[in-house]
Amino acid sequence: MRVIPSGSSGYLMEGKPVCSHCSGRAVYLDRESGTHLCSQHLKESVQARVLNRIIQEKPLPDKFGVAFSGGKDSTALLAVLVALKEKIPSRLIALTVDEGIGGYREETIRHARDVCSRLNVEHRIITFPDLFGLSLDDFMKNSSRKACTICGILRRRALEVLADQEGVHLLATGHNQDDHAQTTLMNAFSADIKKVFAGSGRTSQFARRIKPFAAVSEREVTLYAILSDLFIDLPECPYASDAFRGEVRRLLNRFEQEHPGSMRNLAHAEEEIRSRLKGKVQLQPLENCKVCGWSGSGEICQVCTVLKEQKNKNNSSTGQ
Ligand code: SF4
Ligand code: ZN
Repeated sequence: MRVIPSGSSGYLMEGKPVCSHCSGRAVYLDRESGTHLCSQHLKESVQARVLNRIIQEKPLPDKFGVAFSGGKDSTALLAVLVALKEKIPSRLIALTVDEGIGGYREETIRHARDVCSRLNVEHRIITFPDLFGLSLDDFMKNSSRKACTICGILRRRALEVLADQEGVHLLATGHNQDDHAQTTLMNAFSADIKKVFAGSGRTSQFARRIKPFAAVSEREVTLYAILSDLFIDLPECPYASDAFRGEVRRLLNRFEQEHPGSMRNLAHAEEEIRSRLKGKVQLQPLENCKVCGWSGSGEICQVCTVLKEQKNKNNSSTGQ
């Protein structure tokens, strides 16, 4: 038997190991517990952890939105939620933002449409040009700002607008355990305790955000998508440049190989820190933006600031 090293807390099995719960062929080894899992038991284990997260949100709203980029994490999340539909009575709806990134987004949007049609899930798409008048590619012409900064600010608003339009009050994102572990370490390195609370559910005007994969490793998420026959190799965003996160990811993956369970403990530490500090850290209160009225931090929200910068750029290039 040979094991293929993964980036996270598991190993994809090669050869004929047997599932620890049945006589099926194992596809996954949890190195921390030494448990082998077949396809069915791996899926059930992931579903159980996702359900456990979601039932903490009771009462569940009528509509349950998924921020659906079409990437492997949100694809796997949608597949898990469809598998759990008997246990989660809310109506599922996939919400996609098309930022307008040439040579990249067309393919992921195609995949997103295909997944929704195969899983029979309602799907809505909102585009940057529809909402802001320009694609991300347009925003980036002559811009000195990082694409991911602009993209993050505008995409967050686009999702909120779409959630509002669709009457979605609970929005799940595909962040997995590895993402949490990386974020914990990055926050520790930056020593900015307020970052621990960034994106922790208070920032959306309409929809509460949850992360059902918080206790599921990236390897398990990827395997879930593969085993559900929904995984395809998609191109990487041409603007992807988070070098710091990449470095932290490599560091943690190496550490996980040596010390199985570290990733999970680190992700758990993030939640622990957040719950212990709740109410003790003074966060900037949300204000309504003086331009668009949307809630955010500061008198003028980040979206209006980006749009104003763009307008100034246009004016200076036309000599106005
Ligand atoms: Fe947006 Fe950056 Fe992600 Fe590309 S990598 S989709 S620019 S956040
Ligand atoms: Zn605004």
